[in-house]
Amino acid sequence: MDTTLKIIKTENSRLGDFDFNNMPGFGNAFSDHMFEADFIDGEWKNFTIRPLSNFSIHPANLTLHYGQAIFEGMKASLSKEGTPFIFRPFDHAKRLNMSAARMSMPSFPEDVFVDVLEKLIMIDKDWIPPMEGSAMYIRPFMFAMDGLIGVKPSQTYKFMILLLPVGAYYNKPLYLKVETEYVRAVRGGIGEAKAAGNYAASLYPYVEAKKEGFDQVLWLDAIELKYVQEISTMNIFFVLKDKVITPALDGALLKGITRDCFIKILKSKNIPIEETKINIYEIFELYKKGELLEVFGAGTAAIVANVDRLSLKGEVIQLDVSKYTISPMIMSTINKIRSGEYPDDFGWLKPVVQEVFA
Ligand SMILES: *Cc1c(COP(=O)(O)O)cnc(C)c1O
Repeated sequence: MDTTLKIIKTENSRLGDFDFNNMPGFGNAFSDHMFEADFIDGEWKNFTIRPLSNFSIHPANLTLHYGQAIFEGMKASLSKEGTPFIFRPFDHAKRLNMSAARMSMPSFPEDVFVDVLEKLIMIDKDWIPPMEGSAMYIRPFMFAMDGLIGVKPSQTYKFMILLLPVGAYYNKPLYLKVETEYVRAVRGGIGEAKAAGNYAASLYPYVEAKKEGFDQVLWLDAIELKYVQEISTMNIFFVLKDKVITPALDGALLKGITRDCFIKILKSKNIPIEETKINIYEIFELYKKGELLEVFGAGTAAIVANVDRLSLKGEVIQLDVSKYTISPMIMSTINKIRSGEYPDDFGWLKPVVQEVFA
């Protein structure tokens, strides 16, 4: 592997025209540069940081036809002193490689991943929004590059990283439709991989749910359609009278890193947390007994997303998010770790201290 990094800096930075106080919606704004590497002849090469731009692919590109594509989503932000740091980058690098293995794609060495990411962030450091709650969203992704028609793993790949400044997530409580017809993923499938195709499969039910007035779909297991999996882009937690529960990893749901943070924070506060099979019908029964106190999602984009209503085959249950205590405690703990107000006892922050010579 030739990790020599070529850096081509933009001569037309868009930063001066970017208004941090009036940022476009999540996903619409990009920093000046991107990272790119090619997998050719069995190894990663052509490491390049260059201005964000289009590129061309063969019309028979295997990604377009057979969907060999995976991604990650993570965040960097500034400490109170102005040092950029990345949140759990090695865990994201590891998960990218787990996804790659499931999709018959090459792994990208984790230390090299974090190294090039740090360099990219240093170059576009001034794009990290300074306001509390805002961040630089990092989108690493890998996809097949062979241009041929044939159902087999591609021989060539591209790995890229994009940076997107994002504002504080507006946390309107979510109204979830418990999906009892369509499924997202089945054990043995690719639900545990952060694969593009999982999202493609979720779009139709999502659009239908939106039309019916819901914000998101809550997916159930694909076999019995009764055990809770996750919300499309987030894992889910339920607070009961005496404990917090979240679906156990079963091979079909995504191993969320935010989910892992929540579990560790709850354990550190001696709040009982169980990873278990969760029957949605039992959740509705617990609600009726007054024993369901909070429901919230866990994912990198929003961190915590409160749920105030759930609809199961037309039956709606409603919670009062102003009474939630666990969810705001988790949110504030993570924010305080990120800002440096709390010590980073879990070792989640990777400061970016690299000099970039170019
Ligand atoms: C990315 C993702 C999540 C959340 O994972 P985090 O690591 O917490 O961001 C949850 N579910 C799905 C399907 C995802 O793709």
